[in-house]
Amino acid sequence: MDGLIEYISKVRRPTLGEEVPLLIFRAFRLFTEMYLEDTLGNRGTVALLQNAGRQLGHELAKRLNSTDLKTFLDNVAHFVKSEKVGILIPEELQKDKLIVSLDECITCAGMPNIGKRICHFEAGLIGGILEEHLKKRVKVSETKCNAMGEGICQITAEW
Ligand SMILES: [Zn+2]
Repeated sequence: MDGLIEYISKVRRPTLGEEVPLLIFRAFRLFTEMYLEDTLGNRGTVALLQNAGRQLGHELAKRLNSTDLKTFLDNVAHFVKSEKVGILIPEELQKDKLIVSLDECITCAGMPNIGKRICHFEAGLIGGILEEHLKKRVKVSETKCNAMGEGICQITAEW
């Protein structure tokens, strides 16, 4: 998928511009996810969305990379906030594990409890970003989600 970001960044919408309401993003995102759940089941859906996020994470990380992990994470947090994906807050960093919260998450912030975690793409995104930096496979999972009534979006990564 090399070059995909360059392709999709070429927008020609002289009347409508580049902004869309968050509700529209969420509708596209979550109707797709719910349809995938019906078709592939939960495990397949999580794997598919996580891996898609992972691919994007690799592409983004190439643009944000830095030699040390701390500076790299600062760059990631800055990017995620400036693009309004969320406010990334590192909760725990060990030599083989990172826990981050994604406050004001683009996908789940403010959602009522629907009994499931839904931010698998975001979890994969963090995984791919870390993989590009660490040059090793990173296991990720969403460990808290507003859509599960847990009050925040949280991603745990282990390598
Ligand atoms: Zn979430």
